[in-house]
Amino acid sequence: MIITMGKYEYLILGPQGSGKGTQAQALANLLRIPHISTGDIFRQLAGQQSEFGQELDKILKTGQLVPDDITNKLVANRLAESDTNSGFVLDGFPRNMKQAEFLAKIKPDVLAIYLELSDEEAVKRISGRRVCPNCQAVYHLQYNPPRVDEVCNIDGAHLLQRTDDTKEAVLVRLANFHQQTEPLLDFYHQRGKLKRIDGAPPIDVVTANLRAILGL
Ligand code: ADP
Repeated sequence: MIITMGKYEYLILGPQGSGKGTQAQALANLLRIPHISTGDIFRQLAGQQSEFGQELDKILKTGQLVPDDITNKLVANRLAESDTNSGFVLDGFPRNMKQAEFLAKIKPDVLAIYLELSDEEAVKRISGRRVCPNCQAVYHLQYNPPRVDEVCNIDGAHLLQRTDDTKEAVLVRLANFHQQTEPLLDFYHQRGKLKRIDGAPPIDVVTANLRAILGL
């Protein structure tokens, strides 16, 4: 008898600092499926010396969104790779209605998970966020500190603050979230494809709640 596994197709929505990346990675590890973060992909491309890289770097630093045609194409190409055959966790995409409509055409069954967090808490979390420039692991000075001060647990690199984690850029990104991304909650709710979860508790508690809500 052949047992076929259903696909695990998820996307995580939430304001900056809600723990999208952390929870997406936990879910991806658990299910052995790829974690696809458009932010990580763009940050990597922005580090390249090309004209495109420099253009991206400017967009990211100010907290603006990368144009939809570029973003949609990049995601479509990534989702066409064979490692997504048994599923994926999208993090940071879609971020507006155009992107959601595009995704619905290529992946109509994706389940959206909304991590809720107040703006006040989001700003607090972002100011303490540190990332590993090598492996992209994410820490928080207070909530999820590395074992050795300012040093990545995984590869020992010196942790950095993201260039878009300035107060100014965070406010732009939060405003974008409310204007452009929040309407997606209705979009997925109307399709019966939305699960909401409180992003305020500690990381492990959110992961456990997430597993429970997804029946994993
Ligand atoms: P955060 O959720 O904390 O804003 P991300 O790492 O998801 O961080 O994204 C960082 C930046 O990458 C965004 O501010 C934006 O410039 C760009 N970006 C990421 N995802 C998208 C997307 N889906 N559409 C357009 N731009 C994006």
